Amino acid sequence: MRITSAEFLKSALWETDWPRDHTPEVAFLGRSNVGKSSLINSLLGVRGLARASNTPGRTQLLNFFLINDQFRFVDLPGYGYAKAPKAIKAEWSQAAEEFLAKREQLVLSIHIVDSRHEPSKQDLQLHEWLVHHHKPHLIVATKSDKLSNNELRQNIKRVASVFRTEQVLIYSATKKRGRDELWGAIEKSLKS
Ligand code: GDP
Repeated sequence: MRITSAEFLKSALWETDWPRDHTPEVAFLGRSNVGKSSLINSLLGVRGLARASNTPGRTQLLNFFLINDQFRFVDLPGYGYAKAPKAIKAEWSQAAEEFLAKREQLVLSIHIVDSRHEPSKQDLQLHEWLVHHHKPHLIVATKSDKLSNNELRQNIKRVASVFRTEQVLIYSATKKRGRDELWGAIEKSLKS
């Protein structure tokens, strides 16, 4: 995919504020600090479009980006930020779930996990929700550059077994590993 333009459109929480046209969308999900902004920025080849921040939980809203004037990336709020007040946590997950459940033009959900860690309870809940609701999704294990080949192989096996899937895409935002493969999957979803 050749990126000719990538622009931040808006942040929103509830449906009344989501963009109203039928442009296809790809959503990015994962727990806070998993490397979601870095992954989005590395896919687009830009720095700082999706805010890479070391402060977990800063991305509290759904962020919409228009790519090549043709499709949108939607950066969903990171979950599992332990320090967030309960009410805020509930609001984030409700808005994200509402988006995933209702959004008709959503062609793919990219579920990002950290290749170093065992998926969390919330990761599993999200995965089961996506499977149960027949939502097209893809698991991407990022930060792979932080592991040796051996550790990576073992961890990916574990991720695949926890999620009961064969398909885990290995990614590194730093090394751009998996970038072409991920774009391939995105393009396929946009065409179908
Ligand atoms: P977000 O909260 O999910 O958006 O996470 P960020 O993209 O802000 O990343 C969290 C931290 O992990 C930052 O310090 C990033 O530099 C780092 N990080 C993200 N992706 C990678 C990666 O692929 N490799 C390495 N080595 N570090 C990464």
